[in-house]
Amino acid sequence: MTVRAFRQAADAASPIPNIITELPGPRAREIIARDAAVTSPSLTRAYPLVAESGKGYVVTDVDGNQFLDFAAGIAVAATGHAHPKVADAIAAQAHQLVHIAATDFYEPRYLELCERLAAIAPFEEKARVFLTNSGTEAIEGAIKLARHHTGRPAIIAFEGAFHGRTMGALSLTNSKIKQRAGFGPLLPMVYHAPFPRVRAWHQGTGGDGSAELEHLRKAILGRLVPPEDVAAIVFEPIQGEGGYFPAPDAFVRGLREICDEYGIVLIADEIQTGMGRTGRMWAMEHYKVEPDVITVAKGIASGMPLGAFIGKDHLFTWTAGAHGSTFAGNPVCCAAALATLDLVEGGLVENAARMGERLRAGVEYASEECGGVHDIRGMGLMLGVEFGSHDEANALEYAAFERGLLILECGEASIRFCPPLIVDEAAVDTAIRLYTEALASLGYPIRPLPGLDETGG
Ligand code: PLP
Repeated sequence: MTVRAFRQAADAASPIPNIITELPGPRAREIIARDAAVTSPSLTRAYPLVAESGKGYVVTDVDGNQFLDFAAGIAVAATGHAHPKVADAIAAQAHQLVHIAATDFYEPRYLELCERLAAIAPFEEKARVFLTNSGTEAIEGAIKLARHHTGRPAIIAFEGAFHGRTMGALSLTNSKIKQRAGFGPLLPMVYHAPFPRVRAWHQGTGGDGSAELEHLRKAILGRLVPPEDVAAIVFEPIQGEGGYFPAPDAFVRGLREICDEYGIVLIADEIQTGMGRTGRMWAMEHYKVEPDVITVAKGIASGMPLGAFIGKDHLFTWTAGAHGSTFAGNPVCCAAALATLDLVEGGLVENAARMGERLRAGVEYASEECGGVHDIRGMGLMLGVEFGSHDEANALEYAAFERGLLILECGEASIRFCPPLIVDEAAVDTAIRLYTEALASLGYPIRPLPGLDETGG
C-alpha cells in the first residue's frame, strides 16, 4: 500500500464520523447520570459513549452522533454491527427455538457449530468442542479439562495475562492489580512466569523469549513446582489486555517443547486473537505450533454471548456429568455463530490481513516523528500503540473519541485498534487520519499525511 492510496481513500470516505452535538450530548448526559445511580461501580467506561444503534463499522449514539468503531465492543463485533446475515439468522432462530439446554438434550445447531469448530481446530488430531457463554467460562472449562485429564493440580500462566474474571480464570489473570485486589484466596498452585514483552519499533528487537523460557524452566519448574505436578500451561499467543504483545516464535515453540517433555496440556487462549482477527483463523497458525486446547469467545458469534474450548480428542477422558452449562450453546447464539463463521471463512480472514497491513502502515507513518509513541505492534486487525504513560494513552483515547473514533486502551500505556473484520480502505484511512488529528490535538509533533504530490504516485 502506498501513502497515496490511504490518503485518496480517506478523502473519498463517507462523512463518518459525524459529530453533531457536544460530547456527551444531552441525552447521553441524562443516561450517564441515571446509570451511575444503579449500575455496579466496578464497570470501567473509558469515555461517555452511550450507544443507540450500530451498522457495519459505524456506531450511532443516543444523540445521533456517528462514530467510526475501531473498538468493536472489545474486539467482539467480528462481522460489524447488525450484519444482515447474522441479524437474519438470529431473528429466524428466535422464532423457532430460543432454548433447550444442550447439556441435557440434542440440538442440530449446537451439533453443526461443534462440527464446524472441530473441523478448523489448529491441530491434526480429531477435536472435541464444549460451548460456553463467555470467554472466562471457556477458560474455566479448559482448566478443568486439563486438571481432570492429567490428575495434576498446578497451572502455569504468564505475567501480564488476561484470561477473565471468574475465580479460576482470575487466578490466571495478571494484567492489572485492581482486577485481583480484594478477591483472594484465588486458586492455589497457579504460577506466573514472565512473558516476553517484545518491543520492536523504535526500541530495538527486544529478544526472542529465550530468557523468559529459561526462567520458566529453571526458576519455576526447577524450584517452585515440579513439572510432573503441572496440568497446563495457559498463554495468549498475543497478550491482549496486557498490551498487545505478540509472543516470539521461539517462545511458543519452547512452550510446546516443555509441554511435550512433561505431558503438560498447552492451552492457547485465542479469545481475543481467534476468529480471523490476526489475519489467520487462529493466531497459533502464525506460529506453526499445535496447542492441545484453544479457548474461543469474543468474535465467535458477532456479539451474541458464546464461547468454546476446543481440545484434542484424547484429553476428553471425563465422563457424563463432569462438566455442563445450562445456557451455553443456546440455539440463537449458535445460529449467530454459524452465520459469523460463514462470513469469516468467506473472506474476512483475508480482509483482516490486508486491512491490518494498511492500518499498521498508516499508524506507523503518522507516528514516526511523534516523540510520544514508543512502540507499535500486533498482527492483522489487532494493533497496539504504546505511549510513555497510562495518562498519555488515556488522553489519546479520549481525544480520538472527541473526533469520532472509538478505540480502547490496553496494558500499562497503550491504545489498541481492534475494529470489526469488515473494515474497508475508507474506514482504515479515516481511522488513521483521526488518530493523527488526535495526536496533534495533544501537542505531539506529528508527521502530516502527505498530499498526492508528495507520494510521487
Ligand atoms: N481471555 C482473553 C485473552 C480475553 O481477552 C478475555 C476478555 O477480554 C477473556 C479471556 C475473558 O473473556 P470474557 O470477558 O468473555 O469472559
